Amino acid sequence: MALPADRPAASALLDRFGREATDLRISLTDRCNLRCTYCMPAEGLPFLAPPALMSLDEITRFARIAVTQFGVRQVRFTGGEPLLRKDLVEIVRAVAALDPRPEISLTTNAIGLSSRAQALADAGLDRINVSLDSIHPETFAKITRRPFLDRVLGGIDAVRAAGLRSTKINAVLMPGINDHQAVELLEWALAGGHQLRFIEQMPLDADHTWERESMITAAGIRERLGVRYLLTADDAPRDGAPAELFEVRERALGSDSPVLGLVGIIASVSEPFCADCRRTRLTAEGAVRSCLFSHTETDLLGPLRAGADDTELADLWRSAMWAKPSGHQMNAAGFTQPDRPMSAIGG
Ligand code: SAM
Ligand code: SF4
Repeated sequence: MALPADRPAASALLDRFGREATDLRISLTDRCNLRCTYCMPAEGLPFLAPPALMSLDEITRFARIAVTQFGVRQVRFTGGEPLLRKDLVEIVRAVAALDPRPEISLTTNAIGLSSRAQALADAGLDRINVSLDSIHPETFAKITRRPFLDRVLGGIDAVRAAGLRSTKINAVLMPGINDHQAVELLEWALAGGHQLRFIEQMPLDADHTWERESMITAAGIRERLGVRYLLTADDAPRDGAPAELFEVRERALGSDSPVLGLVGIIASVSEPFCADCRRTRLTAEGAVRSCLFSHTETDLLGPLRAGADDTELADLWRSAMWAKPSGHQMNAAGFTQPDRPMSAIGG
Protein backbone atom coordinates (compact mmCIF):
# COMPACT_ATOMS: atom_id res chain seq x y z
CA MET A 1 0.00 0.00 0.00
CA ALA A 2 1.38 3.44 -0.97
CA LEU A 3 2.12 5.93 1.84
CA PRO A 4 0.58 9.41 1.64
CA ALA A 5 3.39 11.39 -0.06
CA ASP A 6 4.23 13.44 3.04
CA ARG A 7 3.82 10.72 5.70
CA PRO A 8 7.07 9.49 7.26
CA ALA A 9 7.49 5.72 7.50
CA ALA A 10 7.96 6.12 11.27
CA SER A 11 6.43 3.58 13.61
CA ALA A 12 4.45 5.83 15.97
CA LEU A 13 0.97 7.22 15.28
CA LEU A 14 1.92 10.70 14.15
CA ASP A 15 -0.06 13.43 12.46
CA ARG A 16 0.84 16.43 10.30
CA PHE A 17 0.71 18.76 13.31
CA GLY A 18 3.43 17.02 15.33
CA ARG A 19 1.16 15.12 17.70
CA GLU A 20 1.71 11.47 18.63
CA ALA A 21 -1.24 9.31 19.72
CA THR A 22 -0.34 7.19 22.74
CA ASP A 23 -3.85 6.84 24.17
CA LEU A 24 -6.23 4.35 22.51
CA ARG A 25 -10.00 4.41 23.11
CA ILE A 26 -11.82 1.30 22.00
CA SER A 27 -15.60 1.30 21.77
CA LEU A 28 -16.92 -2.18 22.59
CA THR A 29 -20.54 -1.66 21.59
CA ASP A 30 -22.87 1.06 20.35
CA ARG A 31 -25.69 -0.20 22.61
CA CYS A 32 -26.60 1.24 25.98
CA ASN A 33 -29.05 0.62 28.83
CA LEU A 34 -29.47 4.36 29.47
CA ARG A 35 -30.66 7.06 27.07
CA CYS A 36 -28.86 10.20 28.22
CA THR A 37 -30.44 13.16 26.47
CA TYR A 38 -27.05 14.65 25.45
CA CYS A 39 -26.00 11.37 23.81
CA MET A 40 -28.82 9.11 22.59
CA PRO A 41 -32.38 9.58 21.34
CA ALA A 42 -35.30 8.37 23.48
CA GLU A 43 -35.77 5.52 21.03
CA GLY A 44 -35.21 4.58 17.43
CA LEU A 45 -31.43 4.49 17.09
CA PRO A 46 -30.48 1.50 14.92
CA PHE A 47 -27.76 -0.67 16.47
CA LEU A 48 -25.00 -2.69 14.84
CA ALA A 49 -25.75 -6.38 14.35
CA PRO A 50 -23.54 -8.48 16.68
CA PRO A 51 -21.37 -9.91 13.85
CA ALA A 52 -20.41 -6.35 12.89
CA LEU A 53 -18.79 -5.77 16.31
CA MET A 54 -15.12 -6.54 16.90
CA SER A 55 -14.69 -9.88 18.65
CA LEU A 56 -12.44 -10.54 21.64
CA ASP A 57 -9.65 -11.77 19.35
CA GLU A 58 -10.00 -8.85 16.96
CA ILE A 59 -9.90 -6.31 19.79
CA THR A 60 -6.83 -8.02 21.22
CA ARG A 61 -5.12 -8.00 17.85
CA PHE A 62 -5.70 -4.27 17.33
CA ALA A 63 -4.56 -3.53 20.89
CA ARG A 64 -1.42 -5.62 20.32
CA ILE A 65 -0.59 -3.66 17.16
CA ALA A 66 -1.13 -0.42 19.08
CA VAL A 67 1.14 -1.26 22.01
CA THR A 68 3.87 -3.11 20.14
CA GLN A 69 4.08 -1.01 16.97
CA PHE A 70 2.87 2.46 17.96
CA GLY A 71 3.98 2.69 21.58
CA VAL A 72 0.41 3.14 22.85
CA ARG A 73 0.55 3.19 26.67
CA GLN A 74 -3.08 3.55 27.66
CA VAL A 75 -6.12 1.62 26.50
CA ARG A 76 -9.58 2.76 27.56
CA PHE A 77 -12.73 0.75 26.88
CA THR A 78 -15.89 2.70 26.25
CA GLY A 79 -19.07 2.60 24.20
CA GLY A 80 -22.13 2.73 24.20
CA GLU A 81 -22.05 0.88 27.49
CA PRO A 82 -19.01 -1.44 27.68
CA LEU A 83 -20.49 -3.45 30.58
CA LEU A 84 -23.08 -4.76 28.11
CA ARG A 85 -20.29 -6.89 26.60
CA LYS A 86 -20.53 -10.33 28.21
CA ASP A 87 -16.85 -10.92 27.38
CA LEU A 88 -15.60 -7.68 28.97
CA VAL A 89 -13.60 -9.48 31.67
CA GLU A 90 -11.92 -11.67 29.02
CA ILE A 91 -11.16 -8.59 26.89
CA VAL A 92 -9.50 -6.86 29.85
CA ARG A 93 -7.54 -10.00 30.70
CA ALA A 94 -6.30 -10.39 27.12
CA VAL A 95 -5.18 -6.77 26.85
CA ALA A 96 -3.53 -6.92 30.28
CA ALA A 97 -1.47 -9.88 29.02
CA LEU A 98 0.10 -7.79 26.23
CA ASP A 99 3.77 -6.97 26.39
CA PRO A 100 4.35 -4.12 27.05
CA ARG A 101 1.28 -4.04 29.24
CA PRO A 102 -0.74 -0.85 28.75
CA GLU A 103 -2.64 0.88 31.54
CA ILE A 104 -6.25 -0.26 31.15
CA SER A 105 -9.29 1.82 32.03
CA LEU A 106 -13.03 1.75 31.56
CA THR A 107 -15.61 4.50 31.06
CA THR A 108 -18.99 3.23 32.16
CA ASN A 109 -22.39 4.20 33.49
CA ALA A 110 -21.76 1.58 36.25
CA ILE A 111 -25.02 -0.33 35.72
CA GLY A 112 -24.12 -3.96 36.35
CA LEU A 113 -20.75 -3.02 37.81
CA SER A 114 -21.59 -4.18 41.32
CA SER A 115 -21.43 -7.83 40.27
CA ARG A 116 -18.40 -7.47 38.00
CA ALA A 117 -16.04 -4.95 39.61
CA GLN A 118 -14.00 -7.61 41.41
CA ALA A 119 -13.64 -9.81 38.31
CA LEU A 120 -12.57 -6.78 36.26
CA ALA A 121 -10.01 -5.77 38.87
CA ASP A 122 -8.69 -9.34 39.03
CA ALA A 123 -8.44 -9.40 35.21
CA GLY A 124 -6.18 -6.34 35.27
CA LEU A 125 -8.40 -3.28 35.01
CA ASP A 126 -6.50 -0.32 36.47
CA ARG A 127 -9.01 2.53 36.55
CA ILE A 128 -12.71 3.24 36.18
CA ASN A 129 -14.51 6.45 35.22
CA VAL A 130 -18.19 6.47 36.03
CA SER A 131 -20.61 8.90 34.42
CA LEU A 132 -23.04 10.41 36.90
CA ASP A 133 -24.75 13.76 36.37
CA SER A 134 -26.94 13.90 39.47
CA ILE A 135 -27.36 12.20 42.83
CA HIS A 136 -31.09 13.03 42.83
CA PRO A 137 -33.21 10.13 41.58
CA GLU A 138 -35.66 12.40 39.70
CA THR A 139 -32.94 14.43 38.00
CA PHE A 140 -30.97 11.28 37.17
CA ALA A 141 -34.08 9.73 35.61
CA LYS A 142 -34.83 12.90 33.66
CA ILE A 143 -31.34 13.01 32.15
CA THR A 144 -30.87 9.30 31.50
CA ARG A 145 -34.57 8.52 30.84
CA ARG A 146 -34.19 5.52 33.17
CA PRO A 147 -34.77 5.20 36.98
CA PHE A 148 -31.49 3.43 37.76
CA LEU A 149 -29.61 5.76 40.13
CA ASP A 150 -29.41 3.10 42.87
CA ARG A 151 -27.67 0.69 40.53
CA VAL A 152 -25.09 3.31 39.57
CA LEU A 153 -24.36 4.16 43.21
CA GLY A 154 -24.09 0.43 44.01
CA GLY A 155 -21.60 0.06 41.14
CA ILE A 156 -19.47 2.92 42.48
CA ASP A 157 -19.40 1.29 45.93
CA ALA A 158 -18.32 -2.00 44.36
CA VAL A 159 -15.33 -0.32 42.71
CA ARG A 160 -14.04 0.68 46.11
CA ALA A 161 -14.63 -2.78 47.54
CA ALA A 162 -12.70 -4.28 44.61
CA GLY A 163 -9.65 -2.21 45.59
CA LEU A 164 -9.40 -0.30 42.31
CA ARG A 165 -7.74 3.10 42.35
CA SER A 166 -10.13 5.92 43.15
CA THR A 167 -13.00 6.26 40.73
CA LYS A 168 -13.30 9.38 38.62
CA ILE A 169 -16.82 10.67 38.11
CA ASN A 170 -17.77 12.39 34.83
CA ALA A 171 -20.66 14.83 34.84
CA VAL A 172 -22.29 16.96 32.16
CA LEU A 173 -24.20 20.02 33.38
CA MET A 174 -27.27 21.20 31.55
CA PRO A 175 -29.06 24.49 32.16
CA GLY A 176 -32.19 24.21 34.24
CA ILE A 177 -31.76 20.44 34.59
CA ASN A 178 -28.80 19.84 36.91
CA ASP A 179 -26.59 22.95 36.78
CA HIS A 180 -27.99 24.09 40.14
CA GLN A 181 -26.75 20.79 41.64
CA ALA A 182 -23.07 21.34 40.77
CA VAL A 183 -22.00 22.21 44.32
CA GLU A 184 -23.93 19.30 45.79
CA LEU A 185 -22.42 16.84 43.32
CA LEU A 186 -18.94 18.07 44.16
CA GLU A 187 -19.67 17.79 47.87
CA TRP A 188 -20.80 14.19 47.36
CA ALA A 189 -17.68 13.36 45.32
CA LEU A 190 -15.31 14.92 47.86
CA ALA A 191 -16.98 13.03 50.70
CA GLY A 192 -16.55 9.75 48.80
CA GLY A 193 -12.94 10.43 47.78
CA HIS A 194 -13.82 10.55 44.06
CA GLN A 195 -12.35 13.00 41.60
CA LEU A 196 -15.26 14.74 39.88
CA ARG A 197 -14.73 16.06 36.35
CA PHE A 198 -17.29 18.28 34.70
CA ILE A 199 -17.42 17.87 30.90
CA GLU A 200 -18.75 20.68 28.75
CA GLN A 201 -21.65 19.39 26.71
CA MET A 202 -20.56 18.87 23.11
CA PRO A 203 -22.66 18.75 19.92
CA LEU A 204 -22.73 14.95 19.79
CA ASP A 205 -26.35 14.25 20.77
CA ALA A 206 -28.45 12.05 18.51
CA ASP A 207 -31.29 14.58 18.59
CA HIS A 208 -29.04 17.45 17.39
CA THR A 209 -30.50 19.81 19.99
CA TRP A 210 -27.17 21.17 21.31
CA GLU A 211 -27.03 24.96 21.39
CA ARG A 212 -23.89 26.93 22.07
CA GLU A 213 -25.89 29.76 23.67
CA SER A 214 -27.39 27.55 26.35
CA MET A 215 -24.51 25.16 27.13
CA ILE A 216 -22.78 25.54 30.50
CA THR A 217 -19.20 26.61 29.76
CA ALA A 218 -16.11 25.99 31.88
CA ALA A 219 -16.41 29.58 33.12
CA GLY A 220 -20.03 28.88 34.06
CA ILE A 221 -19.01 25.72 35.93
CA ARG A 222 -16.33 27.61 37.89
CA GLU A 223 -18.87 30.31 38.69
CA ARG A 224 -21.40 27.80 40.04
CA LEU A 225 -18.79 26.00 42.17
CA GLY A 226 -17.37 29.34 43.31
CA VAL A 227 -20.48 30.07 45.35
CA ARG A 228 -19.24 27.60 47.95
CA TYR A 229 -15.67 26.66 47.03
CA LEU A 230 -12.40 28.41 46.23
CA LEU A 231 -10.82 26.84 43.15
CA THR A 232 -7.08 27.20 42.57
CA ALA A 233 -5.51 25.85 39.37
CA ASP A 234 -3.40 22.80 40.17
CA ASP A 235 0.16 23.44 39.02
CA ALA A 236 1.09 19.80 38.26
CA PRO A 237 1.82 19.36 34.51
CA ARG A 238 -1.34 18.53 32.56
CA ASP A 239 0.56 16.07 30.38
CA GLY A 240 -2.04 15.89 27.61
CA ALA A 241 -4.93 15.22 30.03
CA PRO A 242 -8.22 16.75 28.86
CA ALA A 243 -9.24 17.92 32.35
CA GLU A 244 -7.86 21.08 33.88
CA LEU A 245 -7.57 20.34 37.59
CA PHE A 246 -8.33 22.70 40.45
CA GLU A 247 -7.65 22.40 44.16
CA VAL A 248 -10.86 22.80 46.13
CA ARG A 249 -11.09 24.72 49.41
CA GLU A 250 -14.02 25.96 51.45
CA ARG A 251 -14.53 29.59 50.39
CA ALA A 252 -15.64 30.54 53.89
CA LEU A 253 -12.35 29.24 55.38
CA GLY A 254 -10.09 31.11 52.93
CA SER A 255 -7.08 30.26 50.80
CA ASP A 256 -5.01 28.96 53.73
CA SER A 257 -7.54 26.29 54.59
CA PRO A 258 -6.89 22.61 53.79
CA VAL A 259 -7.37 21.31 50.25
CA LEU A 260 -10.49 19.13 50.23
CA GLY A 261 -9.66 17.42 46.94
CA LEU A 262 -9.39 18.12 43.24
CA VAL A 263 -12.06 18.87 40.67
CA GLY A 264 -11.53 18.70 36.90
CA ILE A 265 -13.13 20.69 34.10
CA ILE A 266 -13.01 19.38 30.54
CA ALA A 267 -13.57 22.45 28.39
CA SER A 268 -13.68 20.80 24.97
CA VAL A 269 -15.85 23.57 23.51
CA SER A 270 -14.83 26.83 25.14
CA GLU A 271 -11.13 26.12 25.83
CA PRO A 272 -10.20 23.34 23.35
CA PHE A 273 -7.08 21.29 23.94
CA CYS A 274 -6.79 19.78 20.44
CA ALA A 275 -3.16 20.90 20.08
CA ASP A 276 -2.25 18.45 22.86
CA CYS A 277 -4.55 15.62 21.79
CA ARG A 278 -2.95 12.18 22.16
CA ARG A 279 -5.98 10.05 21.24
CA THR A 280 -6.72 7.50 18.61
CA ARG A 281 -10.13 5.82 18.55
CA LEU A 282 -11.55 2.55 17.30
CA THR A 283 -15.31 2.38 16.85
CA ALA A 284 -17.15 -0.79 17.87
CA GLU A 285 -17.08 -1.95 14.25
CA GLY A 286 -13.33 -1.55 14.05
CA ALA A 287 -12.88 1.76 12.24
CA VAL A 288 -10.26 4.35 13.16
CA ARG A 289 -11.54 7.82 14.00
CA SER A 290 -8.73 10.29 14.39
CA CYS A 291 -11.04 12.80 16.13
CA LEU A 292 -14.44 12.65 17.91
CA PHE A 293 -15.69 15.16 15.36
CA SER A 294 -14.37 13.43 12.24
CA HIS A 295 -16.71 13.01 9.31
CA THR A 296 -14.58 10.17 7.99
CA GLU A 297 -13.46 6.81 9.38
CA THR A 298 -10.95 4.24 8.17
CA ASP A 299 -12.14 0.66 8.29
CA LEU A 300 -9.60 -1.75 9.81
CA LEU A 301 -11.91 -4.65 10.61
CA GLY A 302 -12.86 -5.30 6.97
CA PRO A 303 -9.20 -5.61 5.93
CA LEU A 304 -8.45 -7.74 9.04
CA ARG A 305 -11.30 -10.13 8.17
CA ALA A 306 -10.12 -10.18 4.54
CA GLY A 307 -6.71 -11.45 5.68
CA ALA A 308 -4.54 -8.30 6.03
CA ASP A 309 -1.43 -8.87 8.13
CA ASP A 310 -0.35 -6.70 11.07
CA THR A 311 1.99 -4.61 8.94
CA GLU A 312 -0.82 -3.74 6.54
CA LEU A 313 -3.27 -2.96 9.34
CA ALA A 314 -0.71 -0.81 11.14
CA ASP A 315 -0.04 1.12 7.97
CA LEU A 316 -3.74 1.79 7.37
CA TRP A 317 -4.01 3.01 10.95
CA ARG A 318 -0.96 5.28 10.63
CA SER A 319 -2.32 6.83 7.44
CA ALA A 320 -5.70 7.48 9.10
CA MET A 321 -3.97 9.28 11.96
CA TRP A 322 -1.63 11.19 9.65
CA ALA A 323 -4.80 12.78 8.18
CA LYS A 324 -6.04 13.88 11.66
CA PRO A 325 -7.33 17.46 11.47
CA SER A 326 -5.61 20.14 13.58
CA GLY A 327 -8.73 20.52 15.73
CA HIS A 328 -12.46 19.91 15.95
CA GLN A 329 -13.32 23.34 14.42
CA MET A 330 -16.38 23.58 16.70
CA ASN A 331 -15.77 27.29 17.02
CA ALA A 332 -15.33 27.90 13.29
CA ALA A 333 -18.03 29.09 10.87
CA GLY A 334 -19.36 26.17 8.86
CA PHE A 335 -18.83 23.56 11.63
CA THR A 336 -21.16 20.62 11.18
CA GLN A 337 -21.98 18.03 13.81
CA PRO A 338 -20.98 14.44 12.94
CA ASP A 339 -23.92 12.25 11.92
CA ARG A 340 -23.14 9.60 14.53
CA PRO A 341 -23.97 10.38 18.17
CA MET A 342 -21.47 9.95 21.00
CA SER A 343 -22.80 6.47 21.86
CA ALA A 344 -22.02 5.23 18.34
CA ILE A 345 -18.58 6.85 18.12
CA GLY A 346 -17.29 5.80 21.53
CA GLY A 347 -16.94 8.61 24.06
N1 SAM B 1 -21.77 4.62 28.61
C1 SAM B 1 -20.51 4.98 29.18
C2 SAM B 1 -20.64 6.20 30.06
O1 SAM B 1 -21.65 6.89 29.98
O2 SAM B 1 -19.70 6.46 30.79
C3 SAM B 1 -19.41 5.19 28.17
C4 SAM B 1 -19.76 5.91 26.92
S1 SAM B 1 -20.23 7.61 27.13
C5 SAM B 1 -20.52 8.06 25.45
C6 SAM B 1 -18.69 8.34 27.57
C7 SAM B 1 -18.76 9.73 28.15
O3 SAM B 1 -19.22 10.61 27.16
C8 SAM B 1 -19.69 9.88 29.34
O4 SAM B 1 -18.95 10.41 30.42
C9 SAM B 1 -20.72 10.87 28.88
O5 SAM B 1 -21.13 11.72 29.89
C10 SAM B 1 -19.97 11.61 27.80
N2 SAM B 1 -20.84 12.24 26.81
C11 SAM B 1 -21.78 11.67 26.05
N3 SAM B 1 -22.36 12.56 25.23
C12 SAM B 1 -21.74 13.75 25.49
C13 SAM B 1 -21.89 15.07 24.96
N4 SAM B 1 -22.78 15.36 24.02
N5 SAM B 1 -21.07 16.03 25.45
C14 SAM B 1 -20.17 15.76 26.41
N6 SAM B 1 -19.98 14.53 26.94
C15 SAM B 1 -20.77 13.54 26.49
FE1 SF4 C 1 -25.29 5.48 27.42
FE2 SF4 C 1 -23.01 6.62 28.18
FE3 SF4 C 1 -24.48 7.68 26.17
FE4 SF4 C 1 -25.42 7.81 28.65
S1 SF4 C 1 -23.54 8.79 27.88
S2 SF4 C 1 -26.59 7.15 26.82
S3 SF4 C 1 -24.69 5.94 29.54
S4 SF4 C 1 -23.44 5.75 26.14
